[in-house]
Amino acid sequence: MRVLRMNKRHLPEFLEASKQFGELWGPVKKGEVYVYEHIQDISEMSLQPQRTLLPLKKLIYPPKIKMFQYEGEKYQDTQEEVPRRVVYGVPSCDIHGLLIMDEIFLRQYRDPYYAIRRERTAILGASFCTCYPKSCLCQSMGTDFIKEGFDLYFTDLGNYYLVWVGSSLGDDLIRLKPEIFNDNISRKDLSEFVTRKSSYTQEPCNIIDMAIIPDLVELSSEHPVWEEMGEKCLECGACTMVCPTCNCYNVFDEPYLNTETGKRERYWDSCTFNGYSVVAGGHNFRESRAERLRLWYWHKLNSFGPQERPACVGCGRCVDTCPVDINVLTVSKRLLGDKTKQALSTKAKKP
Ligand code: SF4
Ligand code: SF4
Repeated sequence: MRVLRMNKRHLPEFLEASKQFGELWGPVKKGEVYVYEHIQDISEMSLQPQRTLLPLKKLIYPPKIKMFQYEGEKYQDTQEEVPRRVVYGVPSCDIHGLLIMDEIFLRQYRDPYYAIRRERTAILGASFCTCYPKSCLCQSMGTDFIKEGFDLYFTDLGNYYLVWVGSSLGDDLIRLKPEIFNDNISRKDLSEFVTRKSSYTQEPCNIIDMAIIPDLVELSSEHPVWEEMGEKCLECGACTMVCPTCNCYNVFDEPYLNTETGKRERYWDSCTFNGYSVVAGGHNFRESRAERLRLWYWHKLNSFGPQERPACVGCGRCVDTCPVDINVLTVSKRLLGDKTKQALSTKAKKP
């Protein structure tokens, strides 16, 4: 992978130039949180990587997608309306989340609605996020650094960046301002990189033992934690909305009153909702909140998707979002707590 060097003072002019590719988006502070917004003026955005309220999926897999509309026998595809975008400041955990989404929506099945947004979005990642150490667990999940899934990746080394070029689109973006990059990477730069990387990994972040948690989840299908958390859960769906790897959706047809015209849309859905597992005939395969939470944690902490890996990328959003303190940390701690023996002795059962 090509690595370049760029003086930090050039970042605003580079981002300005990147607007030639498409709309510039980046993290903007709103009260206590950051959100991705369309940037008109670079001074509005944070140039540090920030964990935003909603992850990058908000742009590539938005909460609502208009799939098509029709009028009589005329069908109109809405894909052409998808804008080109450059998103700056994406932390590594969110790029890891996107790689999991890619497995599902590009490789297992090709979802054209996801694919077009992914292709039309340039991802400019940025390292050494220090946003939410109280809630994040990226080190446990191995997501505090990233090697793929981005177009450019900016590593902050004081008054300059090392810029990893991850795709041909990244190369094209560099060519918009070639004079501000150079490839004179010295031994001093490499040693600065190694020093910063190792001091970053010494920063405290929540540590859960992922050598044991997946097995513990698998062996704990009868553990009381699910009933206890199920009693408390408000079924609000917030944990699934903020999670970078939750991807369930529902599809609605909306015919207009004249019956000649209408549209089809799809919306985020949540496996924590009561109606989520209802099938034709009215049977609900996961009637209790406890069963639904167990399924969610099976996916996040045991296995999910074609790669059968835990789908948690350690962003900590569920930790900060759940109003009743149900999250990957509280569930893991409960499973690892004084009831560990009991949890391990119960029979494994897939949710
Ligand atoms: S489970 Fe929680 S911490 Fe893990 S990726 Fe989802 S929101 Fe982030
Ligand atoms: S955020 Fe908490 S209360 Fe809301 S659905 Fe998720 S676990 Fe339940």
